[in-house]
Amino acid sequence: MVSRSHCPFCGGQIFKQLSTIQVEAFHYDVVICKNCQGCFRLQKWDSDFLIHYYNNLSRLHRGKKDDQRENLFEDRVKEHAYPRYYFLKNFFKLRSEQDLICELGSYDGANLLPWKNAGFDVLGFECDETVKEFSNRMGIAATSQKLIEYNFSKKKPSLFILSHVLEHLEDVDTYLTYILKNMGPQGWIFIEVPGVRLQGFSNLTNYFDVEHIFHFELKSLINLLKKNGFSVTYGDEYIRCIAHPTLECEKRVQRGLLGKALSVLAIPNMPLENYLTVNGVMKLPILFLHKLQTLLVRYYYGWLVFCGKRSVKA
Ligand SMILES: [Zn+2]
Repeated sequence: MVSRSHCPFCGGQIFKQLSTIQVEAFHYDVVICKNCQGCFRLQKWDSDFLIHYYNNLSRLHRGKKDDQRENLFEDRVKEHAYPRYYFLKNFFKLRSEQDLICELGSYDGANLLPWKNAGFDVLGFECDETVKEFSNRMGIAATSQKLIEYNFSKKKPSLFILSHVLEHLEDVDTYLTYILKNMGPQGWIFIEVPGVRLQGFSNLTNYFDVEHIFHFELKSLINLLKKNGFSVTYGDEYIRCIAHPTLECEKRVQRGLLGKALSVLAIPNMPLENYLTVNGVMKLPILFLHKLQTLLVRYYYGWLVFCGKRSVKA
């Protein structure tokens, strides 16, 4: 395990320590870059440990038990996959029977099930063999081949889902570049990561997870996407973010009702370092805004699911 000398966001070299994570005998530092306010884990895992960790240890660390896999799959489909499916359909139209939907870190395949049921081709990339086999048994195609070695010459994906995966990746630029190159100009990317402004505020000790290299705020995620050739159509601090290749951006930017509402409820735009250490008078209004934003996202999702179900019945 080595410590980074450069910020993975901007290459800066001056950091301030924010927190520490203790896991068994290991000790990790979470720091913030003085130059770009990017927040990240200082220590880097080497590639052998990384593979060993995600194949054998991650499920244990997350308390996911093998004998409860089918129940967990059903819960994930109902609570996350369908709401997300209706949410995304609100922003763009894809063609079932033609388009390919891919997910990086697809786990048991739950996120891809609504797309498969709607007639899309789906393919998950999952390095954990046990859950990958489960996904295939459930009829959701998954491969343990590395995404950045996969050949998309037969069909280019129209949508890439990266749900709670980007914050785990050591080489985010390599992955985003490969996705951009292989998705074609009409493609979309959906990213969900635990936003440090909304989910970490006043709860940093619980928020910092040993598996997470990056602790994104919307601004740092947008900068990363821009740097890699994407334009953002929608983003909130939760964080949910929809982006597409920059070439076509003029025609495709659309914020939607939720985007407009959330920007009205914008969380104070102070530098991340000050924000995370804010106290006293400032803390209550921020907590209030968080509550509003969380409620809005939750009920807006619920409303979309309701409308989606109604249109299916009709
Ligand atoms: Zn930086």
